[in-house]
Amino acid sequence: MDAQLSITTIMHHAEMVAGSKEIVSRMNDGTIHRYTYADAFLRARQLANTLEELAIGAEARVGTLAWNDYRHFELHYAIPCSGRICHTINPKLFPEQIKFIINDAEDEALFIDPQFIPLLESMSKELPSVRHWIALCSQSELPISSLPNLQSYENLISRQSSEFDWPEFDEKRASGLCYTSGTTGNPKGVLGNHRSIVLHGMAQNMASSVGLTSEDVVMPLVPMFHVNAWGMPYNAPMAGAKLVLPGPHVADAESMVALVNSERVTFSLAVPTLWSGINSYLNESGASLPSLKRGVIGGAAGALSLYEDMDRHGVTLENGWGMTELSPMGSYNRSLGWHTRMSDSSGGQQRLKSGRPLFGMQMRIVDEDGNSLPHDGKTTGVLEVRAPWACQSYFGGTQQHTWFSTGDVATLDPNGYMQITDRVKDVIKSGGEWISSIEIENAIMSHPGVREAVVIGVSHEHWSERPLLIVVPEDLEPELTAEALLTFLQGKVPKWWIPNACEFVDELPHTATGKVSKKSLREVYDHYQWPGA
Ligand code: ADP
Repeated sequence: MDAQLSITTIMHHAEMVAGSKEIVSRMNDGTIHRYTYADAFLRARQLANTLEELAIGAEARVGTLAWNDYRHFELHYAIPCSGRICHTINPKLFPEQIKFIINDAEDEALFIDPQFIPLLESMSKELPSVRHWIALCSQSELPISSLPNLQSYENLISRQSSEFDWPEFDEKRASGLCYTSGTTGNPKGVLGNHRSIVLHGMAQNMASSVGLTSEDVVMPLVPMFHVNAWGMPYNAPMAGAKLVLPGPHVADAESMVALVNSERVTFSLAVPTLWSGINSYLNESGASLPSLKRGVIGGAAGALSLYEDMDRHGVTLENGWGMTELSPMGSYNRSLGWHTRMSDSSGGQQRLKSGRPLFGMQMRIVDEDGNSLPHDGKTTGVLEVRAPWACQSYFGGTQQHTWFSTGDVATLDPNGYMQITDRVKDVIKSGGEWISSIEIENAIMSHPGVREAVVIGVSHEHWSERPLLIVVPEDLEPELTAEALLTFLQGKVPKWWIPNACEFVDELPHTATGKVSKKSLREVYDHYQWPGA
């Protein structure tokens, strides 16, 4: 049948099979909000009626600056299912970038968590397309603001009927817009459509991939403004799983562990820095996570020591690779029986792989001239992908991708496992040969005195570039020396990869999506004097 793949079908499915399942939200003030999918979708209908009343155009962009909670969830349905485009904005970007992307998207309305109101007040006069400003709060919580006619979300939707005739439209109709963080140049808009969201969800929910079931309780620590919390507001209801939305304080490991335990969360998703915070808290407090079985670690490479520590806490971390342009998931390293039967060292290396492509995702690695390279697990090349949920061109752009060049350098092995070894722009080229910064970082992270570590390429008179190791030591390791760390690497990585020097710092700079910013570090160490040089 010519039935269209739409986000509305996810809503109808969840209403039918999981109407009484809960969505639990931890709000900014720490209070818990609890209701069901059935309740959420009734409110989504009230919200769709509100969008009509506000006369927001068909396919208009509607921006959100919000944390993971139930109102943001409602926006993820009411906006696209009524034929508009949900533009999730990362509030941690620089104000100039936020201004740029709101103007580039020409958002007609903005739905704003009250804590971001001052940020928008500072730029509202330079956002000519925005006609409606709506604070995600009740009427009594509405702050006094210079934003023109700022309205309360609860007040607006309470006036509306909870009946709404969801329109039918072509599955290729745009549904969501998310900008890349723009580490080079201006952020670029990635437009998803109903079909890409549904196909991505179906592929992610296959058993050998993320494979959620209706028995799961899913808590995404990754924010909904970072590519739809890696799909969870759509994929959890698609699987009929309970959803726990943790609000703004995801870096507070103690309260996240308490939330996992009180809601019996079985599955979570986070970048390595957040998993690392949870691991440290568990180690220090002696707390445990009896319900949590699995978690996705993604967005950046995680260290093997973190996987192994979390094993001891009963949580199997699984590496997921993706990018905004891929809605976002491309590959997943589902923990399998044969991995656990491998010897310790090869089992460890297997877990660190970025996983097998999701069904529907094609992958190849190519050399500088675009020639395909062998899948031997050793040869590195630039990773190119193709999938029905990969972005065809950037928002407002004309260049059409047939194969999308990811900007990542990777290997592919005979079992179909891909492994990221670097980003093209982070690659260290020493004497004409590539050195994998990620592999060195992994090796050094197994040293107990290292809390965080990063390796960057710094210019070198003789080799053109050499690796520099930058380390945040554990508090209890005042005696740690650069020499000891560099010696520790011997035998763990090829000899010529061992960095020429090691610097200690108190903290590392992070990007708006929580990843270590190698770009900022390269700027800091631009004129670095190699010891003895
Ligand atoms: P940005 O961080 O530039 O805003 P994304 O959030 O889309 O963009 O990040 C995509 C990039 O993050 C990938 O191209 C890759 O370099 C890196 N990345 C994502 N997941 C992983 C992973 N599991 N392991 C290593 N790197 C990853």
